[in-house]
Amino acid sequence: MEREVVAMTASMLGGGARGATSVCGCVTSGGTESILTALRTTRDFMRSTRGIWDAEIVVAESAHAAVYKAASYFNLRLVRVPVDKLTLQMDVLATRRAVTRNTVLIYASAPGFPHGVVDDVQALAEVAQSAGCGLHVDACLGGFVLPFAKKAGWRHGVGLGRPFDFSVAGVTSMSVDTHKYGLAQKGSSVLLYANPELRRAQYTAVTEWSGGLYISPSAAGSRPGGLIAQTWASLVHMGESGFVAAAQRVLEAADTLAAGVRTIPGLQVLGQHTMVVAFRSQEPGVNIFQVNDELTSRGWHLNALQRPAALHFCVTPANSDAVPALLRELRAAVDAVRAAKGKAAPGGMAPVYGLAGGLPDRGAVGDLLKGVQDIMLDG
Ligand SMILES: *Cc1c(COP(=O)(O)O)cnc(C)c1O
Repeated sequence: MEREVVAMTASMLGGGARGATSVCGCVTSGGTESILTALRTTRDFMRSTRGIWDAEIVVAESAHAAVYKAASYFNLRLVRVPVDKLTLQMDVLATRRAVTRNTVLIYASAPGFPHGVVDDVQALAEVAQSAGCGLHVDACLGGFVLPFAKKAGWRHGVGLGRPFDFSVAGVTSMSVDTHKYGLAQKGSSVLLYANPELRRAQYTAVTEWSGGLYISPSAAGSRPGGLIAQTWASLVHMGESGFVAAAQRVLEAADTLAAGVRTIPGLQVLGQHTMVVAFRSQEPGVNIFQVNDELTSRGWHLNALQRPAALHFCVTPANSDAVPALLRELRAAVDAVRAAKGKAAPGGMAPVYGLAGGLPDRGAVGDLLKGVQDIMLDG
């Protein structure tokens, strides 16, 4: 079943019989494990094939937080580049400049979590190829939507309709979450590689253990067969037609949301949205985090973003019907914040976000987050 989950996923993304037949992969416990593994595997592969010992990974500011986890676990140097001010795509020129002889990987997103923007994978692949390094495409969020967008009749938009997968020469790995738009239960993701030689650097072989000869593909030892079976069932149950229909529903609702936000005075949609629609306030009297507090008090839960301060809503098949109601509430929330003339609602999170966003001592902000985590674990 793992083999078939990987095969189905690969065939959507430029691999399989009609694509690059060398594409291969495995199932992991989630997007984070797929990303951790891709980065470690590339580090080890480049160490043994190119003799690079001080591995650097070039990432955009918008790359998922899992890359920071990978850097701290695996001793990788993260080289951060900005996103283009207008498109919010990873800055290709800055990426070119950031590449050194220690660069093992460039990390692109399709789309990125914060703004739902698809990076220019083709341009980044050219940079990767001329540098001789790998290119990871994080399609954790978009892997089960973007391949079906065209078939769902959705043609416009930066990145959509443009190749972002193994059909682009230079893409060496992709992370694709079956437990997001693949509609499988949490604890399931697919990691794909351009070829088996690269995947081999992922394995651990132990020959000197009294427990016998040991081979393991991934970070986990024992793995849950039930989750793989459930993932397989989800993909087979949905089928291509099911995913096309889901993509159509989600992308239409996201279009409705973005168009609606544009009609609300003071708000601005960031970049070219996909399923995620991000927006900020352009009106000094309307603090976007206060708008979020207002929405929270009305029972809505949006994600707060920073640099720039913004909110996003991720449209899924489960919440797409709620978009018209959300737009009404958002408009009312903006009006309420404007009427409050800068006075924050008591008990809201806006002052915390405002303070944490602007505090120059990021170590102190990190300690604060660890304190919150303690409370969450211990009560
Ligand atoms: C969700 C997500 C991840 C991380 O996946 P988890 O399943 O939460 O570990 C990575 N990248 C992007 C773009 C995501 O949306």
